[in-house]
Amino acid sequence: MLSFKVLILAVLISTVLAGQWNSICAGNPSNVVRGCDKHGCGNYNARRGQRTHQGVDIECTDGSTVYAPFTGTIIRQVKPYSKKNEINNGVQITGGGFCVKIFYIKPVKYRGPIKKGEKLGILLPMQKVYPFIQSHIHIQNCDLSDPTVYL
Ligand SMILES: [Zn+2]
Repeated sequence: MLSFKVLILAVLISTVLAGQWNSICAGNPSNVVRGCDKHGCGNYNARRGQRTHQGVDIECTDGSTVYAPFTGTIIRQVKPYSKKNEINNGVQITGGGFCVKIFYIKPVKYRGPIKKGEKLGILLPMQKVYPFIQSHIHIQNCDLSDPTVYL
């Protein structure tokens, strides 16, 4: 009976740690959002000069394993910048009614099925491009709505 209670507790804790989506970065099980640093803040709608931040930044160390947030299909490569730099890479994933773009990763592939929690790629060397930033993945909904509730 005790082990049953422990099991139930473990299940409850793991569902509380992350939201409906899986933990996205190894070492950050509860999808902690990047705070503010000299480059900006990580929350949805944060200021970016004249524009606003249209996604959420999840803290992640350079080179860390990045996991798929939900089960679906990687449909294409997407890039955050028009000019070339070392972190200009990412993928678009759809599945289960979700559609997201995830930036700053070197993905395991650019097309094909992926399961929730499966390795999606690794975080690119963000410190080389933005020294002293809180390294992170950027995730945004394809319709640019706020993804925070799923994290
Ligand atoms: Zn971002």
